[in-house]
Amino acid sequence: MTVTHEEYTAFVRSGLFTEGAKDTLSLAGLGLGGESGEVQDLLKKYLFHPGYTLDVDELGIELGDVFWYFTVILDYFNLDLEDVMMENTRKLCDRHDRPHPDYLK
Ligand SMILES: [Mg+2]
Repeated sequence: MTVTHEEYTAFVRSGLFTEGAKDTLSLAGLGLGGESGEVQDLLKKYLFHPGYTLDVDELGIELGDVFWYFTVILDYFNLDLEDVMMENTRKLCDRHDRPHPDYLK
């Protein structure tokens, strides 16, 4: 099984119950923060709680929750995931004086 970002975006859109910018972006911004916090908590326990065993599947589930809200924001502003990844690559390469990978050429 595979999923494209377009298919995933359609799924996210189908589950979104908000209307208008204030509702949608409030939900996305707050949700992104909350789910990022869940990822942070797992990492904190992994690094600082003696005897704690990280459940990598659970980490993946929480990262998926982050991605859901991230996708809401991308979709709201009609941003393309590949464009975002490429611009991020370009920004980081330029900042750290690294050569651009082939996919930017
Ligand atoms: Mg979660």
